[in-house]
Amino acid sequence: MNINDLRRRNFLKTSIGAAAVSIAPGFLLFDIAHGKAQAVSGKVRWGMLINTEQCQEGCNDCVTACNKENGLSGGTSATDSQWIRKVEIKEVSTGRKVSLPMMCQHCEHPPCVDVCPTNASFKRADGIVLVDRHRCIGCRYCMMACPYKARSFVHEPLTDQNPDVPRGKGTVESCTLCVHRIDKGQQPACVESCTNKAILFGDLNNPDSEIAKKIRTVASVQVRASLGLNTGVRYQGL
Ligand code: SF4
Ligand code: SF4
Repeated sequence: MNINDLRRRNFLKTSIGAAAVSIAPGFLLFDIAHGKAQAVSGKVRWGMLINTEQCQEGCNDCVTACNKENGLSGGTSATDSQWIRKVEIKEVSTGRKVSLPMMCQHCEHPPCVDVCPTNASFKRADGIVLVDRHRCIGCRYCMMACPYKARSFVHEPLTDQNPDVPRGKGTVESCTLCVHRIDKGQQPACVESCTNKAILFGDLNNPDSEIAKKIRTVASVQVRASLGLNTGVRYQGL
């Protein structure tokens, strides 16, 4: 048995043991806990609207929640995985300060997917950009292609992983939008953790969703919009 077979077996064992939702790089979920298969729909596009006016300078609650949910160490050195980080910006002319969380922007046209030689980086039908760690060969092209520095490489062997979020040394990873929670009808961990309600999560394609209504009525921007990536994460107050 080669190392990839072993990894795959371990992944399956972990997923089944935890009765978690398993994601194939195609677009099918199999809910082991309830024994039913459910297609991921392209009618939905998951996204976030982040209100920088409600995001507090110095607050790191979303980062802490993401680390805990996804089994990340919380270290901030170059070799630690970071799926979300806080960015503080100061406008030079006015001195105005803005604080915002930055994570994978779940691009509609993701450069990380374009450059991946093994199709390990992929976009689900509902817009969530993921990495299939069984296909990832650790070349890190996607890390170089991402304009948001949103991806991390796992350098060290991992312990104490969340069984819902299997990770692996030698592979690249980034924010999954907490896909394992979304597929159970829950909100991403960072959204739930923010007491200031700075992050609104929902279906950008559904005109009746709170996020779609808000995007129609308030000014919002995509970071580096000129790249034409049509990000799923938008910012208000920037
Ligand atoms: Fe890929 Fe980066 Fe876009 Fe996320 S933000 S989809 S990692 S290019
Ligand atoms: Fe982390 Fe989940 Fe928030 Fe993405 S959606 S930044 S994975 S907590």
